[in-house]
Amino acid sequence: MIQLYIPLNFLGVIYREIKQATTDIEKLFGLLDRDREVADAPGAVDLQVKGGSVVFDDVRFAYDPARPILHGVSFEIPAGKKVAVVGPSGSGKSTLARLLYRFYDIDGGQIRIDGQDIRAVTQSSLRAAIGIVPQDTVLFNDTVAYNIAYGRPGAGREEVEGAARAAHIHGFIAGTPLGYDTMVGERGLKLSGGEKQRVAIARTLLKNPPILIFDEATSALDSTNERAIQAELEAVGQNKTVLVIAHRLSTVVDAHEILVLEQGRIIERGRHDALLARGGRYAEMWRLQQATGSDS
Ligand code: ADP
Ligand code: MG
Repeated sequence: MIQLYIPLNFLGVIYREIKQATTDIEKLFGLLDRDREVADAPGAVDLQVKGGSVVFDDVRFAYDPARPILHGVSFEIPAGKKVAVVGPSGSGKSTLARLLYRFYDIDGGQIRIDGQDIRAVTQSSLRAAIGIVPQDTVLFNDTVAYNIAYGRPGAGREEVEGAARAAHIHGFIAGTPLGYDTMVGERGLKLSGGEKQRVAIARTLLKNPPILIFDEATSALDSTNERAIQAELEAVGQNKTVLVIAHRLSTVVDAHEILVLEQGRIIERGRHDALLARGGRYAEMWRLQQATGSDS
């Protein structure tokens, strides 16, 4: 029995470590209440990214079967193009981002990257191809350097610093006594929402993946920082496939297509000028934002 006990205990440790890593990733995206496990399909193969085109094909989804959230959402982001999603809070915008990253499996339809159903590929290859700056970033209880390099394990200190500079967080980090070795998170240095968001942006810049998701990525920043970082995000998004969930409409004007989501349905879609000319919901949102300079 002794002989059996040791390996079992050892497996328990491994299980806990894997569980902890999964929990970290979920925390990163504020998904603490996740109750459904997504697993690699038997025989899952690695995603082969060519251009990185993304297709949502009649996607239906509910967190709770009693309350559908997405009612058949279809759109395509051609390789290297940017599609923007706008709409009121609670309409399902962040859910689209979470589904592309496959935090949950969908209930109907298909999500494809370069023609491959994301349920048929390994999660590690899927997530390696996508960089996401979530709405609310939760950092790991580790050093600033670890949190940034998480985007590309093995990155050198210079690369980490370069990404931090581009995300306008280097000065802040360099000003702390331990610099990049400062512990952050619940048990370390507490960062403001905007600082955390900049760490997440640095991580994504360093990762430099073919597909990018910005979920109101600059919403926690003041307007000076927002404009500066917006320029960095524009630069990193060049020739990449970008899904941008927009908080300021000024950032979607050049999108290949703008989707207006309301209660889990696309109620309007098109390019900025066409949507303005249409005089519908988007035109109204635009007019309100121009008038008030507000974020909604
Ligand atoms: P948006 O980003 O447009 O504000 P979300 O995609 O975050 O909207 O949420 C869409 C709807 O799904 C909301 O009604 C929200 O309450 C609900 N929702 C979001 N996350 C969860 C969750 N983990 N469990 C249950 N319901 C959720
Ligand atoms: Mg959201």
